[in-house]
Amino acid sequence: VTAGKHVIVVGAGIIGASIAWHLTRAGARVTIIDAESGGGVATAASFAWINASWGNPLPYFKLRRRSMAEWRRLAEEVPEIRPSWCGGLLWELPEEQLLAYEQEHRAWGYDIRRVDCAEAARIEPNLIDPPDLALHIAEEGAVEPLAATKALLADAQARGARLLPATIVTGLLYGNGAVTGIASTADELAADEVVLAAGVGTAALAAMLGVRVPMTTPPALLAYSRPYRRLLNGLVMPPGMELRQTADGRIVASVGFDLADPAGAEEIARQRYATVKLLLRGAADLEFDFHMLGYRPMPADGFPIIGRAKDLRGLYLAVTHSGITLAPAVGLFAADELIGGRRDQLMLSYNLARFG
Ligand SMILES: Cc1cc2nc3c(=O)[nH]c(=O)nc-3n(C[C@H](O)[C@H](O)[C@H](O)COP(=O)(O)OP(=O)(O)OC[C@H]3O[C@@H](n4cnc5c(N)ncnc54)[C@H](O)[C@@H]3O)c2cc1C
Repeated sequence: VTAGKHVIVVGAGIIGASIAWHLTRAGARVTIIDAESGGGVATAASFAWINASWGNPLPYFKLRRRSMAEWRRLAEEVPEIRPSWCGGLLWELPEEQLLAYEQEHRAWGYDIRRVDCAEAARIEPNLIDPPDLALHIAEEGAVEPLAATKALLADAQARGARLLPATIVTGLLYGNGAVTGIASTADELAADEVVLAAGVGTAALAAMLGVRVPMTTPPALLAYSRPYRRLLNGLVMPPGMELRQTADGRIVASVGFDLADPAGAEEIARQRYATVKLLLRGAADLEFDFHMLGYRPMPADGFPIIGRAKDLRGLYLAVTHSGITLAPAVGLFAADELIGGRRDQLMLSYNLARFG
């Protein structure tokens, strides 16, 4: 499409919001449709650590790192987003892996350094038992995911995008080898392009046209305290847990990427949250408040699926894990591809065609 064409974005989570915002800024006419009120489902349940951390190959590291830079750019353009560049203190890996991670990522240019017990205690003075060896990554951060997504949606709307909440997309209109719009619980709507950024709902929508999007939806569990006085300066990653303190003072802990039975989620969250008190000085009155069980949109090989579906014109897919980290780059690159036909180098590995 060229600027001025109509693009429907299905899904108003962080991925759809970022694509819609970047498309609108580039001059497209954008309609965002969401089954809920807007702000996303996985997005609202996310831990929201912005990182290019361990366990990924170099091309994916580069995409994530680029997106970290794009977060800084986006937050200047939409000041209400307010990411916190609080840094991360990490010792969740065994020593050998920790050191290998540091060496590899330092060579890749990541702002990562080894810290001893005294330095860890300086970074996070409320740790009862600071680790003898940890890594500090000053350039990492977090956002409040729901607030950031709503800020993006509001700014996109202020620039002319239209948001249709409480509207379920029930079908994709198709003719002459191209997707031409959507059917929904409200009206049918024609468009030059339809972007599926529907999180865990993406595969079902694409399947309506026989497009297979290989993905799983693993559950993941967060536990939140009531708002509390400031105990944490940044992200803290001890073995088996990830912690941060939200803008409103809640200490949120990622307590389960391995849930066998989501039915027992609240009890598991409660039990595991008890260990948070043992980690932090001054946490005696810290109270568990609620849990959030989220389902992660996880492409089958763990990497993003961003781009067109083979030879089907008018359809664009955008589904990814780590969507909080990746949203600014995905939004920028997807808008560029939809409007200018350019596919950024960093995106070359992430099309659907890789699954054959
Ligand atoms: C517990 C947890 C922790 C995480 N931690 C991190 C982290 O630390 N860092 C990180 O980068 N990422 C993290 N992630 C992953 C990240 O949150 C997701 O990758 C990201 O939120 C995906 O955003 P999305 O917009 O694709 O999906 P969503 O936020 O789910 O948005 C999709 C939207 O599509 C709508 N939709 C679906 N089907 C339809 C339909 N048929 N019609 C209309 N609307 C529809 C839904 O209502 C929803 O609003 C975590 C995820 C979870 C669950």
